Amino acid sequence: MNATPQSNRLTVSIFGRCNAGKSALFNAITDTENAIVSGTPGTTTDPVSKSMELLPHGPIVLIDTAGLGDDSALGEARVKKTQSVLNRTDLALYAIDAQAPALADYRAFAQEFARRALPHLPLITKSDTVPAPALAALCSQVPDALPVSDRRPEELTRVKAEISLRLDALREDHPMLKDLLPAGAVVVMVVPVDSEAPRGRLILPQVQLIRECLDGGHRCHVTTERTLPQALRELGRVDLVVTDSQAFASVARAVPAEIPLTGFSILMARQKSDLSALLAGTRAVSALRDGDRVLIAETCTHNRSHEDIGRVKIPALLQKTTGKSLRLDFAAGRDYPERLEDYALIIHCGGCMISRAEMMNRLRTARAKRVPVTNYGLFLAHCHGILERSMSLLRAAGEAPPHA
Ligand code: SF4
Repeated sequence: MNATPQSNRLTVSIFGRCNAGKSALFNAITDTENAIVSGTPGTTTDPVSKSMELLPHGPIVLIDTAGLGDDSALGEARVKKTQSVLNRTDLALYAIDAQAPALADYRAFAQEFARRALPHLPLITKSDTVPAPALAALCSQVPDALPVSDRRPEELTRVKAEISLRLDALREDHPMLKDLLPAGAVVVMVVPVDSEAPRGRLILPQVQLIRECLDGGHRCHVTTERTLPQALRELGRVDLVVTDSQAFASVARAVPAEIPLTGFSILMARQKSDLSALLAGTRAVSALRDGDRVLIAETCTHNRSHEDIGRVKIPALLQKTTGKSLRLDFAAGRDYPERLEDYALIIHCGGCMISRAEMMNRLRTARAKRVPVTNYGLFLAHCHGILERSMSLLRAAGEAPPHA
């Protein structure tokens, strides 16, 4: 279970007012004492998260957030962190204190959940502390609410079962590749092992794709740029070549035109976000003007080198392709600017370190501010003049509108 990357687990987060019993709920669900439980409001300052197995659904991340309703300056900072958890949540639990329900707060939050199209489950906490008629009256005011107390195992079991059920409904399969090819297809993956590659291991999109090929009954072969021509000769039949996007130019030259070619980051976009929207965003590269600001965002943090894709290669290609004098900003990890409206374009990495919910939220926020977004793979394919070629397999599968 621990081998499941966080970005591939659905995230369940607990929201609610200070002292509404969120931490007790977190501890009861995880069966630990990770979150500090205290009657003093505001005890949870930073979000606390735990990876766990929620049966029968499977691996999830559960997050306990700081309480809302604390008006101090510190409370404001906590609320900001709580808001950022919202951005990466797949299912929200909202704790309504049976002793002090504050239903107006819950309704305001329910509106925010609805605005984000984020499913939520209201829970009436401390259910054992109020008389049964009062609890029943409260439940009748909140559709779908379930009572819960860490002292009532049957209620906790029901809540966990309901969470599991809702997560199952959410767990649409968003494969990178396995459904695009018939079983037995031959896939060649081109993985550079240059100074930018982590020593002694593959990165997550590469590992995920190998696993998907195995799951889909495909035969996969992993090679470097240097050994690619020999691999193609020896294999004879090849149904698809998937390359690291940084090697698009040389791989496109080496792979015969009749063999479909695409990039890890394009397939990652298919799994993690909205490929059509990113494809449409790629058109904005040609519309950039002198003085425009461009945000280059990636979701991992790593040491920068002279070959860094985000800091060095993409800025150089952007300059070469557009010929414009642009102002570039960079974001890494979970740092992400709030004022997206300042940008004429966002070039985002594949986002393998964050969940689909978080990636989709980033896209939604940009769309609301009318800022086009493309991703590394599509941008590089565009700059090397092979965008159409890199999309041919996906277009044939009806994945993206022609000429989006
Ligand atoms: S840059 Fe983005 S896609 Fe690449 S490894 Fe980091 S998080 Fe994953």
